[in-house]
Amino acid sequence: MKVFENKADLIFEINSLKQQSKAIGFVPTMGALHKGHISLITISKNNNDITIASIFVNPTQFNDKKDYQRYPRILSDDIKMLEKAGCDIVFTPTEEEMYPEADNRQFDFGNLDKVMEGKFRPGHFRGVALIVSKLFDIVTPDKAYFGEKDFQQVTVLKHLVTIMRYPIEIISCPIIREHDGLAMSSRNMLLTKEEREHVSLISKTLFEAREIAKKLNVEETKNWVIQQINSDSLLKVEYFEIVNDINLESIHDWSQNENKVGCIAVHVGNIRLIDNVRFY
Ligand code: AMP
Repeated sequence: MKVFENKADLIFEINSLKQQSKAIGFVPTMGALHKGHISLITISKNNNDITIASIFVNPTQFNDKKDYQRYPRILSDDIKMLEKAGCDIVFTPTEEEMYPEADNRQFDFGNLDKVMEGKFRPGHFRGVALIVSKLFDIVTPDKAYFGEKDFQQVTVLKHLVTIMRYPIEIISCPIIREHDGLAMSSRNMLLTKEEREHVSLISKTLFEAREIAKKLNVEETKNWVIQQINSDSLLKVEYFEIVNDINLESIHDWSQNENKVGCIAVHVGNIRLIDNVRFY
C-alpha cells in the first residue's frame, strides 16, 4: 500500500493509473477506523481496480471545537488496518495541504442541509462539501463510497455531485453494527464503559420502533422512540425524524408512498451519536 501526504505526488500516481485505464474507487474517512470503514474498502475493492482511502480530520465540518479536538486520531493503527484490508493507496494530508488558504465557497443544497444534522450542526454540511469536493478534485475517482450510517451526508453528497457535475458515482453502503446493534462509529471509542452499555438502547429502540409503527401513527412512533431513549438517565435525544429518503422531508403518514428512514441523534455525556433505520 502506498501512503501519500502530498497531493502533488498522489495526483502524479493517479495520472499514471488513469493512463492504464484503471477504475478507481475512493473511500474518504476521518480515520480512527473500524469495521464500518473497512466494509467500504471491501466493497470498493470488489468493484474497482484500485481503491484509494483518505484519512483527514476535517476542521471545517466541526461546528463544535471541542468535538474536533477530542476526535480520536490513531494514524499508524489506521494504516495497518487499511493495509490488511488490501487498500492500494492512502492519502493522509495535513491541514495546510487541504486548506492552503481559506475556502469561502457556499453550496445550495435546498432543504437537504436545513434539517436534522444541518439544523443542529450549522455549517457541518458546507464543511463536508468543501472537503469532499477538494478530495474529488485530487482523486478524480470513478466511484466514491459512503456509509448509510451518515444517511443525510450521503443525500447531500449525491446532490453535490449533481450541482458540481462530477462524473463520479456515489455508492451508499450498509451500516455495520456491533454485536449489540450499536452502529460502529469512531466516536464510540470515546465512551466510558458505563456509557457504552447504555448506548445499545439507541439501536434497540430504533429496531423496536419498526414493530411499534404497525400499531402507532408516525407522530406517536416518534414520541415513543424519544421517550424510550430519554428514559435512560445517561441518554438525551437531540432529534428523531422520520423522513423521505430522497428529499429528507418529514413523513406524516405511514401510507405515504415514499421510502422512509428514521434518523436520530443522541447525546451521551459529551459525545453525540447518530443512527438511522428504514421503515417499511
Ligand atoms: P468518518 O470517518 O466517520 O467520516 O466515516 C467515513 C465513512 O465511513 C463515511 O462514509 C461513513 O458513513 C462511513 N461509516 C462510518 N461508520 C460506519 C458504519 N458503522 N457502517 C458503515 N459505514 C460507516
